[in-house]
Amino acid sequence: MAENRFDTDPKVKNYVWSRAAGHCELCSLDLTQDLITLTPAKLGEVAHIIPASPKGPRSDTNQTPEISEALTDDPNNLMLLCPTCHNIIDKTPDGYPKDDLTAVHQAFLSKVEFAANHAITHPSAGIIIIGKHFETPVRIDPGELQQALWRDAIQPICRPLTIEGPVVDRYGRDDRYYEQFKSNINQKLEHDLTLYRGRLGDNPIIGVVGIADIPSLMIFGQQLGDRIRHKIYSSNRNTRLRWPDVNAPVPEFKFSFTENGDAEYALVMSISGDIPDRDVLSILPNCSIAKFSATMPNYNIVQNEEAISHFGIEIQKALSQLEASSPKPIHVFAAIPAAMAIKFGSLLTTNHKHPYAIYDRDPPSNAFRLHIKLNELKEKR
Ligand SMILES: [Zn+2]
Repeated sequence: MAENRFDTDPKVKNYVWSRAAGHCELCSLDLTQDLITLTPAKLGEVAHIIPASPKGPRSDTNQTPEISEALTDDPNNLMLLCPTCHNIIDKTPDGYPKDDLTAVHQAFLSKVEFAANHAITHPSAGIIIIGKHFETPVRIDPGELQQALWRDAIQPICRPLTIEGPVVDRYGRDDRYYEQFKSNINQKLEHDLTLYRGRLGDNPIIGVVGIADIPSLMIFGQQLGDRIRHKIYSSNRNTRLRWPDVNAPVPEFKFSFTENGDAEYALVMSISGDIPDRDVLSILPNCSIAKFSATMPNYNIVQNEEAISHFGIEIQKALSQLEASSPKPIHVFAAIPAAMAIKFGSLLTTNHKHPYAIYDRDPPSNAFRLHIKLNELKEKR
């Protein structure tokens, strides 16, 4: 500890904690609970804009020990930060000058004040969709979806509803599997959600998150479509239902195809991973491949909500071009995150009456096979 470094009075620290509503003033992390165990914790640190020592970060040459001592307990000079942000601002003080930090600090306090003075106006419900075709059972904690909704200032009025897919029997994911999954989905959307209709009001927001096979997630998205206003969340291995980085730039996508009115297009989406052309051509040797790819396909491409909506905008443009170019069914091969599969399905409603055929890989060969024709399923009802 440097010489002439003064300690902040515990009473002042308590004030800084409550003033910031227990959240990091830079990244908004909830500092009152452990991210992994979800148990109460005290993760924050009271940080100084102008340091508690004449030699600390952002000190200026005129700073005497007396000034430092006075600033140590001055709430206007104090911020609540998570250890990561605290470390960043103190290790790179040039990037976080006094005026910038003060502005961020003031903006954060205004945000807390606004949130505290305004009632939550959007009642909501959460829906978790879980497929059972995985080797290891997966689950998403309903409590975490509740928290995600609260964080977005939409008020869940009931425990999240969980939609489970059917067990995959020895016949694999056949038509019966998808019909059963679709029926489970509609049961929840039509029946269970209607039970809450009065409390949900006319136009509720439904928060959805899922882990299931791609065709089932697309069916789910299509059923949500434009009949239910929804927000899609994403389950990340490390951050669970928190966005890994709300400030990360949206991923870059590129789309290319050769216009051909007679073509049966194979739309190949390489976003969470890469799909080689040969895997598509081995099942559809005469198709014309239309590629929709992330510049750098990877499993963690969904860093925030904008990544999903940006994907929705870009893929919609691509679908419009393909639909305008050929009336034949569009064959879809997707290596995409669950949230984007739901988004994709949600676009195949009012705006896209075009027939789509969805392929997926099957064990043990891992080769692609046609799983569902989305519009055919739709017409049966
Ligand atoms: Zn932080």
